[in-house]
Amino acid sequence: MSELDRDALKQEMIFWRRDLHAHPEFGFEEERTAAFVAAKLREFGLDDVTEGVGGTGVVGTLKRGSGNRAIALRADMDALRITEQSDAPYRSGNPGIMHACGHDGHTTMLLGAAKLLAEQGGFDGTVRFIFQPAEEWGRGALAMLDDGLMRRFPFDEIFGLHNMPGLPIGHFETRAGPVMSAEDNFEIVLKGLGGHAARPHAGNETLVAACALVTNLQTIVSRRLSPADISVVSVTELITDGTRNALPGLARILGDARSFRPEVSAEIERQMRIIAEGTAAAYNVTAEVKYSREFVPLRNDAELVDAAFAAARGVFEPGNIAVAREPMTASEDFARFLDHVPGCFVFLGNGEASAPLHNSSYDFNDDGLLFGTNFHVAVVRQRLCGEAGR
Ligand SMILES: [Zn+2]
Ligand SMILES: [Zn+2]
Repeated sequence: MSELDRDALKQEMIFWRRDLHAHPEFGFEEERTAAFVAAKLREFGLDDVTEGVGGTGVVGTLKRGSGNRAIALRADMDALRITEQSDAPYRSGNPGIMHACGHDGHTTMLLGAAKLLAEQGGFDGTVRFIFQPAEEWGRGALAMLDDGLMRRFPFDEIFGLHNMPGLPIGHFETRAGPVMSAEDNFEIVLKGLGGHAARPHAGNETLVAACALVTNLQTIVSRRLSPADISVVSVTELITDGTRNALPGLARILGDARSFRPEVSAEIERQMRIIAEGTAAAYNVTAEVKYSREFVPLRNDAELVDAAFAAARGVFEPGNIAVAREPMTASEDFARFLDHVPGCFVFLGNGEASAPLHNSSYDFNDDGLLFGTNFHVAVVRQRLCGEAGR
């Protein structure tokens, strides 16, 4: 691509990205975004563009040559229920909703790759462009899979990316094995007998029991799990039905647990039930534990990580490519696709000055757009390089 073409594409992508940013939509409500994506893909001349996959998901298909292998590239389209703090002319026009995770940038980078690959080819096989809904609440990938994604649009492997605040623009990171954690949610309800604040002995109040339980839950990670397994148990809410002069008869403890192996997630749940029941019994109240699994752990395939690094070498400066040091205890819906095919998820810099993800001042950095697009293109050419190259 000449400098002139590169600049023209960047300007066009900035226009798309800011349009998407100004019109953020919550998970499974990405009607306008999906229509925008589908219209662009058709304009680029893809072989097939299918809307409404798993709700508001879109799948574009591009075939070149005679190769029978297929590679999927995935972007997420949804925004968050956060009120944006911004003076930018393209700030959110939907009150209370904003692109605080950069999915506007991810969608734009994948559109750019579809445009370049449709125009220039340079691969032999099939590319599936997957635009998924509802990444943030971990339901969109499953919705697409349940809607027959693998049967209707089969592919052999999948790649995805996320921008990373704090990592400089033009920097690339990934790692083999565990990359992002599972997310489990829990709710523990303690029931006793509320009563007059002046007569605690006459009832069975739940607040002291709840406080003891919050403390005891801290021993799951520190005393019941191996230090070799990274895990987190965070109590995030404690709500009771007490008031100033009445002791509560009901207490709810809510929280979030992270882990990198299903066995660890199962053990966190098992220990939580033991501790909740034991603590409740000690305070003569009852405990009911609800435990749900929201995100599965994301594990990168070692061979595809090598391929991603090889592709990255054609896009990023050598000194800007690094092996991510440790897995992150955040979660990603991309992991659901890895239950079906091997894949690789990578991180691109959003700049050192970037506000954190999910912060009301966050904005995707447009200087990162071409890096993401070029990485997508490079990885397709790396993986679908024809019989001669394999
Ligand atoms: Zn997010
Ligand atoms: Zn995100």
